[in-house]
Amino acid sequence: MLQQTRASVVVPYFLRWMEKFPDVKALYNASVDEVIKAWEGLGYYSRARNIHAAARQIVEEFGGEIPDTREELSRIKGFGPYTVGAVLSFAFHRKAPAIDGNVVRVISRLFGIEDDVTLGATRKVIEQKVESLLDLETPWVTGEALIELGALVCTPVPRCAVCPLQGQCEGFIQGKADALPTKKKRAKTIHLFRTVFVVEWMGKVLVRKGASGKVMADLYEFPYIEGSEEFLKGTLVRKLTPLTHTFTRYKSHLSPVWIRIDREETFPEYEWVEIFDLRRFPFSSGHRQIAIEVEKIHVQG
Ligand code: SF4
Repeated sequence: MLQQTRASVVVPYFLRWMEKFPDVKALYNASVDEVIKAWEGLGYYSRARNIHAAARQIVEEFGGEIPDTREELSRIKGFGPYTVGAVLSFAFHRKAPAIDGNVVRVISRLFGIEDDVTLGATRKVIEQKVESLLDLETPWVTGEALIELGALVCTPVPRCAVCPLQGQCEGFIQGKADALPTKKKRAKTIHLFRTVFVVEWMGKVLVRKGASGKVMADLYEFPYIEGSEEFLKGTLVRKLTPLTHTFTRYKSHLSPVWIRIDREETFPEYEWVEIFDLRRFPFSSGHRQIAIEVEKIHVQG
């Protein structure tokens, strides 16, 4: 949950999640829709799909026990180098580097590494540096300390004045801590302008589930088009509140309108659902806000 998401946002989700899925078995028994619903609002839904697939794999391939070797952990869906390192280090107390964004920042500054940290070769160097710092007695404590140092002291704007590593830090000594780590420029944000149609017929509205493999896989959305042309002929009920939502490198500007049609029609891939049932469906974050507004207006009559 913490990948790409701030801890303060994650806490309530984590607590609700652990109540609903207290162990691997509970997650294994849940449907992908239930898992996506519990994740709704956190974004980057591939993480939810991966954790569900991982639970299945752990039960089916490893008898319900999380394995304790790098080789086996690396085979689990969604387990990248950080997760494998974190499980080995924090759960099994092995000498294994768990390198998240915080650690990359600390190490690049501590050793004055100027190479692009998004490159595999630089990541390898950082991994070696972390391994050289891990002691044999309690390597997980050092590993955790590096993460915490990055989160609390060696923050994007470094707080060198209160840092215990100041005397040995190349970045600080050479006066270049602020400029590290070096990363290649992020891809530019792409703006999308969409008109979203809440198409109503007799208290039901049209929704579509995102196809698997797509960015919004398993999430529901109302019909929408790029730009502001007509979707179909209907009576305008009202314009809803415009909003923006961001996913990966896209910023989507949504202009929702509610229209009513006078006979039931079928639309490929879409289904009609009762407005009162909308809350049962996991929506992409922008469309969820629209669904909430529609339900509220519907209740008020
Ligand atoms: S001295 Fe500054 S740059 Fe170096 S590790 Fe500490 S906070 Fe980071």
